[in-house]
Amino acid sequence: MKTRAAVFYEAGRPFEVHELDLEDPRAGEVLVRMSAVGICGTDLHSVKGEWVRPTPTVLGHEGAGVVEAVGEGVTSLAVGDRVVLSWAPSCGECEDCSRGRPARCMGLQRSIAGSTLPDGTTRMSLDGETVYRGTATGALAERIVVSERVALPSGDDVPSEQAALLGCAALTGVGAVLFAAGVEPGSSVLVVGAGGVGQFVVQGARIAGASEIVCVDPIEGRREQVLKLGATRAVEPQELAGPMKSELGGGVDYTFDAVGDPETTEAAFRSTRNGGTCVIVGLPAAGKRLDLDPVDFVRRERVLTGTIYGSQDPAVALPVLLDHVRAGRLDLASQLGPTFPLDDINDAIEASLSGVPGRVLVRP
Ligand SMILES: [Zn+2]
Ligand SMILES: [Zn+2]
Repeated sequence: MKTRAAVFYEAGRPFEVHELDLEDPRAGEVLVRMSAVGICGTDLHSVKGEWVRPTPTVLGHEGAGVVEAVGEGVTSLAVGDRVVLSWAPSCGECEDCSRGRPARCMGLQRSIAGSTLPDGTTRMSLDGETVYRGTATGALAERIVVSERVALPSGDDVPSEQAALLGCAALTGVGAVLFAAGVEPGSSVLVVGAGGVGQFVVQGARIAGASEIVCVDPIEGRREQVLKLGATRAVEPQELAGPMKSELGGGVDYTFDAVGDPETTEAAFRSTRNGGTCVIVGLPAAGKRLDLDPVDFVRRERVLTGTIYGSQDPAVALPVLLDHVRAGRLDLASQLGPTFPLDDINDAIEASLSGVPGRVLVRP
């Protein structure tokens, strides 16, 4: 079988769209015709050269599509089903998988680092040369083959562009609040960074019933947007340290670093009240380190933790999020940014790097 895909070679070199050879789905796998794929911060780490992984590779891991064929023994899905991809095709057998946390699976994390599926294959090639799959997925393609366990039914009522966002940004951001931190009604929350994930953290805080939701971001358009999504204040980074912090009684109950840079993590941690919890949601560039003072943990009883993929099994979390979407509590439409055809992948990447408000989408 053939599929067109956006192939990434190295930082600074434009993507090239090629027709790849794609193997048929094996037992327990499905072929998905991709409808919409979001460009995520994780993809941009590769684009910017901050993470070096095997190439040539097909990036993209936040996507929605339609099942086009099923392999032997597939019972959970049928041709024509609309699905959201999970980027956690984990082993299903280790301690973390059996605890319902596939994204923590070390087998999966090795696959992600090696840009393959968990069995070490990629099933895609160009002129006989292996083409790798970013985040163990590789969704920036017309068609991909995945395990049936990571093609999660989305129903027919959520448009595919919106459904795509559920696959990474929404599960990560909303999950950080509802599943990782467990924010209680009436809590105060600070969100550092109002990009794709940060906006979903804000929405998660609203859904959780937080009474004060402060969001900090240097870009004005993003600050305006979070105010519409439930933030009670949106401030610039330099506004956070002084008057804002004193107004918040020295700190908030829960802080979320949706960026993941040591500087933003430190800003979030400093704004966490004594006894409060700081959650790192974004991923830093390779090699970055935090400078921590143990006194902040001992005398202040502050908690610093992290979350991957919303700290919940996507198969469990996705139906919860879909309920919030259908009830009008989780807004996806306003999160959509510009959309590009696959052939304009380089324009899509440029738009995403420029920080345009809303998620940049590719329609393969
Ligand atoms: Zn992502
Ligand atoms: Zn596992």
